[in-house]
Amino acid sequence: MAEKNRVEVTGDVRVRYAPSPTGFLHIGNAQSALFNYLFAKHYKGTWVLRIEDTDTKRNVEHGEESQMENLHWLGIDWDEGPDKPNPKYAPYHQIERIDTYQKYIQQLLDEGIAYKDYATEEDLEAMREAQIANHEAPHYDGRWYNASEEEIAAAEAKGIKPSIRIHLPENHIYAWDDMVKGRVEFNSDNLGGDFIIVKSNGIPTYNFAVAIDDYEMDITHVLRGDDHIANTPKQIAVYEALGLKQPRFGHLSLIYSLTTGKKLSKRDKNTLQFISQYRANGYLSEAVLNFIAFLGWSPEGEEEIFSREELIKAYDVNRMSSSPAFFDQNKLDWINAEYMKRLPVEELAKRIGELVEAAETEEANELKQLGVMNDSAFVEKVVKLYRSESKTLLDVMRKMIFMWTIDTATLSYEDFEGFKLDVCHAVLTELRKHLEATEAEFLTADEYNDMLGEVKKETGANAKHLYMTLNIAFTGSKSSPQIVDVMAVLPVRVLIHLVDKATKAVEDQMAE
Ligand code: GLU
Repeated sequence: MAEKNRVEVTGDVRVRYAPSPTGFLHIGNAQSALFNYLFAKHYKGTWVLRIEDTDTKRNVEHGEESQMENLHWLGIDWDEGPDKPNPKYAPYHQIERIDTYQKYIQQLLDEGIAYKDYATEEDLEAMREAQIANHEAPHYDGRWYNASEEEIAAAEAKGIKPSIRIHLPENHIYAWDDMVKGRVEFNSDNLGGDFIIVKSNGIPTYNFAVAIDDYEMDITHVLRGDDHIANTPKQIAVYEALGLKQPRFGHLSLIYSLTTGKKLSKRDKNTLQFISQYRANGYLSEAVLNFIAFLGWSPEGEEEIFSREELIKAYDVNRMSSSPAFFDQNKLDWINAEYMKRLPVEELAKRIGELVEAAETEEANELKQLGVMNDSAFVEKVVKLYRSESKTLLDVMRKMIFMWTIDTATLSYEDFEGFKLDVCHAVLTELRKHLEATEAEFLTADEYNDMLGEVKKETGANAKHLYMTLNIAFTGSKSSPQIVDVMAVLPVRVLIHLVDKATKAVEDQMAE
């Protein structure tokens, strides 16, 4: 690994997250966004959101919206961007900045560093094939660099629309001290030849526009995925050719799947890839943020649960890791479960309400149809009951549906088979008498505790029999949360109905 010098961050800091709206906010995007955010906040700088939308063919509908909405959801808001323009730097859509690039293009053309290339698609393809046949790495051979005026006039006469390429010096080293990877060097001879800075449709390429934008927007540090490492020498070539000050670069380790050992790809169906999917599937934004912060960075010490504020405080660019970051689903689930325990019940209930409103999952749709969210007392009781054994809000939502519809649900009574059926029967019969005598619609867990004490005395059942019988009767399973808490969620009339169903099942089993 390259030697890495300690990075000292001083002075005014301006960083940017520059998504292309060619897809929705992906976990890799979120990783770049978060580290830029933490960098900006820790070093007291400004975080800029710039939309790199010049590849108009690849832009997808709602791509930009998804980026912004999901960053909001994660709680990482930018300081400047299309919706918060600073007049000194606006606009923030690359497509609106086309004019900005003109003077730099002109300067390079005037100085003979950039030139028009009239090669057609067919010419380029033939060049490529010949190079491959010759065992050479495909590259642009510079054929239009020194074209004569006649050649240019002839191409113009044919109506060929030229692209513009930048001429690279031979055997020149483009090098930088990467904040994450250490020293990185590329030889200009290995960059595929003079590269296009303006496409034949007049739109600048990414490598050109990004360099100019970062310069024009006074960006001091560029942190992005290491899939961009091969682009960096080209951007440095632009800076050097124009004599512009360059930002400091840092390339974040890409995310690999722990299951496949391969780089996470958008086609990998085993891993949730888009932040909107985590949201819809009941992950908490705090947990997702906390999890992503550990993809390529680690704080000092063993602690793994960090709030946003704690992350900002603990962040240190020198602790970014240059080795691959592994996506560990179990770790995400563990972190989410931790936040499920830590957030207030009312907050979890509110988040479930938002999920139900958004209606993006079967569970959310069902809860909406059933009108469950109108009964906030029910919602909060179920959240309280099941949050510590749930990995996600979706797990709690499933319990809500189950409990809301329990009077018509088909419960399993198989577990009765392991117990003394006559004792089970007696417990149910005595309990029913107490429930019948109850006037209130609901009782509290304490009241049920007292009631069960009576039933225990009356039947002589031991604790195990008593609780197992009721666990099965009210949840269809031997293991459940404290049964008195479960009972407190359900109306007394529903409990009576469930007791009747269970009694019938016990009688059937006794008759066998
Ligand atoms: N628009 C580029 C992307 O989405 C950003 C690259 C950069 O940060 O320079 O990958």
